[in-house]
Amino acid sequence: MLQKNGDPYLYETSLKLFTRAAAVIPEGIYGHQNPAFVIPGASPYFADYAEGGHFWDVDGNEYIDFLCGYGPVILGHNHPEVENAVNRQMAKGSCFNHPGKLMVMLAEKLTSMIAMADWAIFAKNGSDVTTWAIRVAREYTGRKKIVMAKGAYHGAHSWCTAYPGGVLPEEKNNILTMNWNQIDTLERLAAIHRGKIAGLILTPYHHPTYTAQEMAANGFWEKVREICDRENILLILDDIRACFRLDVHGSHEVFGIKPDLICFAKAMANGHPISTAVGLNKYREAAEAVFFAGTFWFSPVPMAAALTTLNILETTDAISEMNRLGTRLKNGLEELGKQYDYRITVSGPPALPYMTFDDDPDLYHIQVFCREMISRGVFLHPHHNWFICAAHTDADIDHTLEAADDVFRIVQQELDA
Ligand code: PMP
Repeated sequence: MLQKNGDPYLYETSLKLFTRAAAVIPEGIYGHQNPAFVIPGASPYFADYAEGGHFWDVDGNEYIDFLCGYGPVILGHNHPEVENAVNRQMAKGSCFNHPGKLMVMLAEKLTSMIAMADWAIFAKNGSDVTTWAIRVAREYTGRKKIVMAKGAYHGAHSWCTAYPGGVLPEEKNNILTMNWNQIDTLERLAAIHRGKIAGLILTPYHHPTYTAQEMAANGFWEKVREICDRENILLILDDIRACFRLDVHGSHEVFGIKPDLICFAKAMANGHPISTAVGLNKYREAAEAVFFAGTFWFSPVPMAAALTTLNILETTDAISEMNRLGTRLKNGLEELGKQYDYRITVSGPPALPYMTFDDDPDLYHIQVFCREMISRGVFLHPHHNWFICAAHTDADIDHTLEAADDVFRIVQQELDA
């Protein structure tokens, strides 16, 4: 494990801080940032600062950041134009009794950029808007049931979390699951629960943790729309993760999806906390009937960041650059996998790639691979898809592929010799 200057990557400060955290914070670090989801002891636990496509941990180790804050960082950390807009608004204030002009401007921006959107509402997190969207579907239809895909993530709220702690079974009573890409499983639910399903919530493609990402099969979305129309079910698109990395007009434009409501969050403000749901006029009355509020939701600061981020995404080649760099990474990893006789899959859109070893039931291969990449300054998550940002460079991809060449060999020596 060596840094560029020859020093090994050590995580001493991270580990000390974690011990302190564990004394005063339940779990020390909770949720998906919990070190148990990465590689305990062989990965940083705490970050210090970040710039462009790189970040530094509290031990001073530098990494190419292929997680980008789990997606929000799309233009690069600390982007000067976005931060100028943020600082200008911060100087005027960030918490008022009323919303500011920027909220109206941002709703105007989203409704002009996103063809299906007649209105937009704002909150902070993805979970805020997915939970609100299913309520709107219930309010509009007067029905209780919601269909989601098995293994999909729509947030940490009771109706959709995969974790049982503190959740009453009855909170999930009205949640049904279909299998991604298996339209017959949706048809079956529609037949069994005819007249009772309010909404179907899906992501633009399937991005579960631990396994390869799956794009929609040919004709999947047409069939989904047909069933929703026939059964009067609202189609809610959860575009929180891919959000604006594939198309500034929304991922639905790339895949020909025709949603009734769309939830966006993550990358819309380059890391500043804001989420939105947009929808058709038809659902405005139902949207007005579902109470929606949060003390911090009207802050104009992330709205300033969102307006600037969206303008940059609209007027530069950031999205095609992320696609190009992601394609280089994908092709390079696939080539190296072949050289080392591994069957690997780099799945998902190139700007949100994820690598899996095809034969890796206990996930050791991907864990050793990521452990070794991290120790060479390339931050890759073993169980969650990765993110390219517009501040990544060809040099970052070169460094990553050079490191991967070493690392495939180490994986082979350690697990398959
Ligand atoms: N939906 C999807 C597809 C997500 O990826 C996430 C976050 N990983 C969420 C919803 C929830 O967003 P948040 O963590 O901001 O509540």
